[in-house]
Amino acid sequence: MAQQPPKIYVTRQLPEAALAPLRTCAALSVWESEQAVSRETLLHELRDTVALLSMVTERIDDDLLDRAPQLRIVANMAVGYDNVDVPALTRRNIVLTNTPGVLTETTADLTFALMLGIARRIGEGERRVRAGQWPVWSPFVFLGTDVHHATLGIVGLGRIGAAVARRAQGFDMRVIYHNRGHNREAEEQLGCTWVDMDTLLSESDFVVVLVPLGPETHQLISTPQLKKMKPTAFLVNAARGPIVDARALHAALRDKAIAGAALDVTDPEPLPADDPLLTLDNCLVVPHVGSASIATRTCMATLAAENIAAFLSGQRPPTPVNPEVL
Ligand code: NAP
Repeated sequence: MAQQPPKIYVTRQLPEAALAPLRTCAALSVWESEQAVSRETLLHELRDTVALLSMVTERIDDDLLDRAPQLRIVANMAVGYDNVDVPALTRRNIVLTNTPGVLTETTADLTFALMLGIARRIGEGERRVRAGQWPVWSPFVFLGTDVHHATLGIVGLGRIGAAVARRAQGFDMRVIYHNRGHNREAEEQLGCTWVDMDTLLSESDFVVVLVPLGPETHQLISTPQLKKMKPTAFLVNAARGPIVDARALHAALRDKAIAGAALDVTDPEPLPADDPLLTLDNCLVVPHVGSASIATRTCMATLAAENIAAFLSGQRPPTPVNPEVL
């Protein structure tokens, strides 16, 4: 009897150019919707799935893995993988891959847009114009804060952080950063200066968060950290929502303890329309669109598919997260 081709399950519609190579080596099943696949459907599909191409919206945990006896690889279409229980995969010898690098520049663009947007009150201004409340031009109306020549503090100066620092050079900004270790390349090539976290918080005009989410960084920014920031400073979170304590941030913005915040990511996601953060003019929120350009999403899908194709043909996937299982 002919052997069944392995089944690959893809949890969202993706560009056909990215998926085409997988069709030749496997039976491809794709969740054909813009909405996230339900947990129930995912569990049903995973009963006979060998390779899963997942999004950040899917929680890959012990319970799910227990019900996926044939699963050998999870290709997460994101650089962050806080939606995945990595040790649970590793215990089962299942490979996890992510999509580092291909989204760096696009996410850095959005991060910079958030800085400019909150400093120059873009969201607030646009809301006023649409509401028929165009403010009469006068020297003291709708004043914002300069981004050029300001001090930028990057918490998590990795790939995306360095791309933000490179953009900051064009704005003549001073860039300080805090990582657990030093990013020597960014220090030498981009003139970034390592500082401890307290110095970063107290000296920055813009605190930009770009660390991965994990136990160490969960609510890394909460009341004590917000209190250390200047009242004129802005917080930008383009990493993951739970890195910032949302209640503490709301209080700080409401009380003008800091000048403003711009968020690509929130806790929870989606942010309900009645969330108190959305009542504040000094808070700019966009719906997790850091990597959302046509070209970059195609590159991410392609890299995720390449990881699966390589693994199924017995080669090393290009971007493994837990290479020890290979
Ligand atoms: P990366 O190259 O791994 O950079 C992460 C940096 O964070 C590293 O330099 C690391 O340096 C530092 N770091 C890690 N833990 C830390 C801690 N506890 N305290 C201080 N610094 C810490 O990752 P990347 O590609 O730049 O991506 C960063 C994150 O951005 C991803 O994990 C993802 O969650 C998020 N992201 C969001 C979007 C979006 O749509 N908004 C898009 C892409 C990525 P050390 O190891 O020396 O500490």
